[in-house]
Amino acid sequence: MQDDLKELPQRAKEKYSENRKFFAKLAKKPPKDLDYIMEELHVGEFKKTDCLDCANCCKTTGPLFTNADIERIAKHLRMRPSHFIEQYLRIDEDNDYVLQGVPCTFLGTDNYCSIYGVRPKACREFPHTDRKKFHQIGNLTLKNVAICPAAFNIVEAMKAKLKLR
Ligand code: SF4
Ligand code: SF4
Repeated sequence: MQDDLKELPQRAKEKYSENRKFFAKLAKKPPKDLDYIMEELHVGEFKKTDCLDCANCCKTTGPLFTNADIERIAKHLRMRPSHFIEQYLRIDEDNDYVLQGVPCTFLGTDNYCSIYGVRPKACREFPHTDRKKFHQIGNLTLKNVAICPAAFNIVEAMKAKLKLR
C-alpha cells in the first residue's frame, strides 16, 4: 500500500485530463441510475481497500470542522469548544476551521483515529464516492483521486463502466 500511495499523485496527474473530460460529460448527462451505480462501485472498492492500511487522507489533508463537529468532539474530550479550537484548529483562507497541521493530531501510529466515533462529518463522508448526485462533485473528485487510492480506483471503474461519449 505504501508504494501505491507514493505513486498515486503521479498516476492521478497522468489521468487528470482524461478524468476532467469524463466529469464534464458526466455533469452534462448523468445516467438515471448514477446513485445506484456509485453505491455499488463504492461498496465493491471498500471491500478491497482497508483504510487502516492507508490513512492517507488523515496524513496529507485535514477535514474542515463544522460548529456541530467542534461541539461534539469538544464534549467527547471534556473540553470547552473554545479551548478545543485554540488547541487544535485554525481558520483557513475560506474562513473554515481546519487542523493546525497534518498528519491529523488524532491519528495514531497504528492508523486508528482516536476520536473515530465523534470524528468530523467531512471525515465520515470522505472520499464522497457514495454520495447522491456524484456528478456534481467532479472538481472535488479530480483532487481526491490524487489523495485516495480508493477514489482513484472508483473513478477508473466508473470510466470503464459508463463509457461516456
Ligand atoms: S478514505 Fe481513501 S485516503 Fe482515506 S484512508 Fe481510506 S482509502 Fe485511504
Ligand atoms: S479526525 Fe480522525 S478520521 Fe478525521 S482526519 Fe483526524 S484521524 Fe483522520
